[in-house]
Amino acid sequence: VVATHDVAHRFPGTDVLFEHLNITVRPGETVAVCGPSGCGKSTLLSILAGWEKPWHGTVERHGIGRIGWAFQNPYGVPERTALDHVVFPLLAKGMTRRAAEPQAMEALGLFDLEYAAGRRFADLSGGEAQRLMLARAVCARPDLLLVDEPTAQLDTRTVHSVSHVLGHLAGQGMIVMVATHDPDTRDACRRVIDLAEYAPRGEANA
Ligand code: ATP
Ligand code: MG
Repeated sequence: VVATHDVAHRFPGTDVLFEHLNITVRPGETVAVCGPSGCGKSTLLSILAGWEKPWHGTVERHGIGRIGWAFQNPYGVPERTALDHVVFPLLAKGMTRRAAEPQAMEALGLFDLEYAAGRRFADLSGGEAQRLMLARAVCARPDLLLVDEPTAQLDTRTVHSVSHVLGHLAGQGMIVMVATHDPDTRDACRRVIDLAEYAPRGEANA
């Protein structure tokens, strides 16, 4: 369970982005975090992950051992293969390469990327790189999966299949939170948090 208690955030030099945020998210839920560019969607994910300390309020995490994060802008090591990128976090948590590879291939398979396992990161298309970020985020089976704009470079059909996979992972007990502008991705989530509703009064929809 992830819960926020009266969370508000601002950075030095920004106005308050959102305030009075009280949400509780349980295993099995898919939650879309929506709102206009710059409203604080990515920031909220960082706060939920515990990487950014909220300016006000507290965040509670129960039963969250591992956190998976898929970044808004795909990044990787140009010369390394797609498979290397997914294997790496598994090695980092102590698995052998031999045990890690099949698990990494399975994660690639969830996002229809087996065919690209041996390709260099530099050669991947934008959409492939984005799906690779998802495979890397889920490979270690996190309890909390935070996904930032997963579909910016994907076509409609791929968006649907990614949404389907995220729903499937939630069905296995993961908490899945997705920051997105995309209406199809939003509609595929069971819950929607519109950060514009938490903008300081008078500034919503400004
Ligand atoms: P987008 O839809 O464009 O991804 P977003 O809703 O994810 O936007 P954030 O990335 O959370 O927005 O940023 C919210 C605001 O906070 C932006 O105005 C951004 O410039 C600012 N911001 C983010 N990180 C920092 C930081 N470390 N220091 C100062 N300002 C920051
Ligand atoms: Mg963002």
